[in-house]
Amino acid sequence: MKAILVREFGGPDVLKLEEVPDPTAGAGQVTVRIHAVGVNPYDTYMRAGGYAITPDLPYTPGADASGVIDQVGGEAGAWQVGDRVYISGTAIGKAHGAYAELAVCEAAQVHRLPARITFAQGAGIFVPYVTAWRALFGRANARAGDTVLIHGASGGVGIAATQFAVAAGLTVIGTAGTDEGLAVVRKQGARHAINHRSDGYLDQITSATGGRGPDVILEMLANVNLDHDLTIVAPGGRIVVIGNRGRVEIDARKIMGKDCAVYGLALWGIPPDDIRRAHQAIIAGLESGALNPVVGKEMPLADAAKAHVAVMEPGAHGKIVLIP
Ligand code: NAP
Repeated sequence: MKAILVREFGGPDVLKLEEVPDPTAGAGQVTVRIHAVGVNPYDTYMRAGGYAITPDLPYTPGADASGVIDQVGGEAGAWQVGDRVYISGTAIGKAHGAYAELAVCEAAQVHRLPARITFAQGAGIFVPYVTAWRALFGRANARAGDTVLIHGASGGVGIAATQFAVAAGLTVIGTAGTDEGLAVVRKQGARHAINHRSDGYLDQITSATGGRGPDVILEMLANVNLDHDLTIVAPGGRIVVIGNRGRVEIDARKIMGKDCAVYGLALWGIPPDDIRRAHQAIIAGLESGALNPVVGKEMPLADAAKAHVAVMEPGAHGKIVLIP
């Protein structure tokens, strides 16, 4: 099969399309023929080296994908060849990911892909939607009637969070940095879409809440925004740090003054029972139509290097998806 291999850590050019042996499913595993692969920012951090999770070299990136079951190993439950699925990681772990034509998954890493969801959409489910579910309901204790600021709502996690929040009865204020991104945010049902590159946008957020501030803030770029979030959050509010790309100086007095909480979130640290509940919530939402992954750009697998450049550029408007 064809797969992307990383033989040394470095820039996007270290992603090479190579011919490798087809993998086979062991006991309790299935092989998935990959139809689409989701590109996540952490794929680029891992490829560059020095990320919290450092794979042995060479490795194939990718934890997010969709496809059909190609082979069922013994004791892999009720899965059958031909079943449509999305995956949440691969069995051989960090060395052999989903940027490939085939991937081996533990039976618990495959999830039914509802018929109304395309394979390209299915490539953007696990990382964005489990992260969004955890941020809203596992960390911020979001409740119907809350106002949530999704600070970076036009990317994978932000779109997922907007859809979950709207479905749960929250009022959403979503930010993006381009007109195209703002249009995507509005389309997901956000009450307000505000440009985080415009002057005075923090005042616009405060005005949109009648001066009170958002009850919940989901933060995609804490190194830029955390101190601003502490300024605008409502008294007793909850801020969840999801994304961060550097150091930040904050005035800790604001945390006291606002009687607010700042939570961290690590997808890889979510307890297994919460992961199971997240996938149940996701599949229910995909089936009902409340959740609809948005594909911003499709590219061939051979263009993985270009996709890694694109995912780090401004102007997000949905997921970047690779097609093997
Ligand atoms: P993405 O698809 O690339 O989207 C990034 C979002 O951040 C876009 O909406 C982008 O808007 C926005 N953004 C850019 N500059 C911003 C600013 N100054 N203020 C507010 N928002 C800004 O990435 P993603 O997949 O949604 O992931 C978002 C972040 O969360 C990434 O840093 C990722 O590594 C992290 N993450 C963490 C976890 C975890 O376990 N903690 C899990 C998943 C993702 P424009 O492009 O329009 O500017």
